[in-house]
Amino acid sequence: MAGRLRLLAGALQRAVPRVSGRAAGPLAVRTMSSSAIPTDEEQATGLERKILEADKRGEDPYSCYAPKKYAGTKEDPHLVPSTEEMRFVGCICDEDTTYINWFWLFKGKVHRCWECGAHYKLVHEKIPD
Ligand SMILES: [Zn+2]
Repeated sequence: MAGRLRLLAGALQRAVPRVSGRAAGPLAVRTMSSSAIPTDEEQATGLERKILEADKRGEDPYSCYAPKKYAGTKEDPHLVPSTEEMRFVGCICDEDTTYINWFWLFKGKVHRCWECGAHYKLVHEKIPD
């Protein structure tokens, strides 16, 4: 068994070209991090990078996290973010309900759900460039 393994190892050494020597080409150099594994911030690009940068500032421009809880009263309505002047919103009035009450929410107006009485208000949000 050991003899067969030595033969196999020798055959592999002859078949696979050596890549660790200088003649095989330039060595790969990691430029972004001094540690072995780059962090998420170092690897992120595009939209993911914008989200991570906003998260560091304590912002949530793309509504990635769960919405904050509001009382739903007229004085403390549920705030619904939108980049437009209006948004279609659904109210799940009771947790056991089997349907959703859908309604349009317009900027500047507080809407009251006709079944449960919860209040909703549209909040204009700007998408970062
Ligand atoms: Zn409702």
